[in-house]
Amino acid sequence: MIVDSHMHLGDFPDFNVSLDEKGLDDLMSSCGLDKGIVFHPDNSLVQQAIADRPHVFGLVWANPRVPDYVRVVESFLDDDNFRGIKLHPLLDGYHPNDPLIHPLADLVAERNLPLLIHTGHPIFTLPWSVEELARDKPKTKVIMGHMGHGNIIYINAAIDAAERRSNVYLETSGMPMHTKIREAVERVGAERVLYGSDAPFHHPEVEMLKVKLCGLNQRDLNMVMGGSAVKVFMVDG
Ligand SMILES: [Zn+2]
Repeated sequence: MIVDSHMHLGDFPDFNVSLDEKGLDDLMSSCGLDKGIVFHPDNSLVQQAIADRPHVFGLVWANPRVPDYVRVVESFLDDDNFRGIKLHPLLDGYHPNDPLIHPLADLVAERNLPLLIHTGHPIFTLPWSVEELARDKPKTKVIMGHMGHGNIIYINAAIDAAERRSNVYLETSGMPMHTKIREAVERVGAERVLYGSDAPFHHPEVEMLKVKLCGLNQRDLNMVMGGSAVKVFMVDG
């Protein structure tokens, strides 16, 4: 079972990439992805894409600057095809532990669903800031997207935070060092490490190769490639 925990639908002209519904289907079948987790700031676009795709689930993009954001997010979460919330504090401009985020953290905790938060860039998405939210909301599963991303200081900080906090999970997309994936598994356990690609910004097979080459035993490899995501997002069956 391979689950891609991090995929973006939509057009991204700055990056000169895009992923539409057909592109998603093609990518998933060509890369052997059994299930995928997708999101976009326009939650309606995602809701439409996942409605008739039983193997694809959504995360509700939450932005506390949107009026009435808690009610809006809750209404999308009531659609069972959504399995958590995505936060991008850098893009939307807020601190991840701003009190405005706390009702969202409670909302997912009540449903045993996770928050996936972008990490890796100053000023709002460094692992220490995301850890503050995990510390204040210990019942909320907090996934650090990109597990710190491209800088070794931030990658180490993400693994350190996960080691300190049992509600912190690490997602592998866009993080360049395969050896740090193995270290993460050794330090926090495979159940809290999730494979993700960040498609269409990165190719799922390239991202997969890092996990496959990092030296995990078969059991841990199966967990990271999909078993952990099945549990965290509750996407079995
Ligand atoms: Zn992403």
